[in-house]
Amino acid sequence: MAATILVVEDEPAIQELISYNLELAGHNALKAQNAEQALEMVRTALPDLVVLDWMLPGMSGIEFARKLRADKRTQAVPVIMLTARADERDKLQGLETGADDYLTKPFSPRELNARVKAVLRRRAPQATDDPVEISGLKLDPASHRVIGNGTPLALGPTEFRLLHFLMTHSERVYSRTQLLDQVWGDHIFVEERTVDVHIRRLRKALEPTSHDRLIQTVRSAGYRFSATA
Ligand code: CA
Repeated sequence: MAATILVVEDEPAIQELISYNLELAGHNALKAQNAEQALEMVRTALPDLVVLDWMLPGMSGIEFARKLRADKRTQAVPVIMLTARADERDKLQGLETGADDYLTKPFSPRELNARVKAVLRRRAPQATDDPVEISGLKLDPASHRVIGNGTPLALGPTEFRLLHFLMTHSERVYSRTQLLDQVWGDHIFVEERTVDVHIRRLRKALEPTSHDRLIQTVRSAGYRFSATA
């Protein structure tokens, strides 16, 4: 499954190289030349991951990472920090700021892709191709299939993404706004009741094998996927 990755880098050649390689690896790369522009983009839609250059004109990469961590809406967005210096102190400061990983320039595309994959797997499993299985319900992102107790179930694309997110974040409650951010990628142009519509469709699609009971409504809070329904 393609992850949306925001690349914040002011050097055009490096920006191009990183974005090109991420797209080769099957991801969608969004480009920002500075932290101010990146903040604007994150305000509109949450990326699955940020590849962030440390040295930027204006607001630094560290400052930008701090801002992401300080805001409840963006605090869980994974960050891979890029730096020109292999300085241990920088590395420590970067990790303290909340970067999930760290790459020193110059790095190979292969190294970048490996780190991206590892961080996504750890922090944004809904953006990977790893199959998920809970209580006899199996979702395979690579083949785009959902199977309940051996029976194939038919889901629309939005219901599939919604189920993928819920299954990779089970036992936690998500508000409609959070689900819009995480599954639709933006929370500004879509109404909250859209979530209810798709939850209803998702439950209907899971009914044949009674897996609809795993999707719980939590009053005045949102929805939760739970294996202990
Ligand atoms: Ca730079």
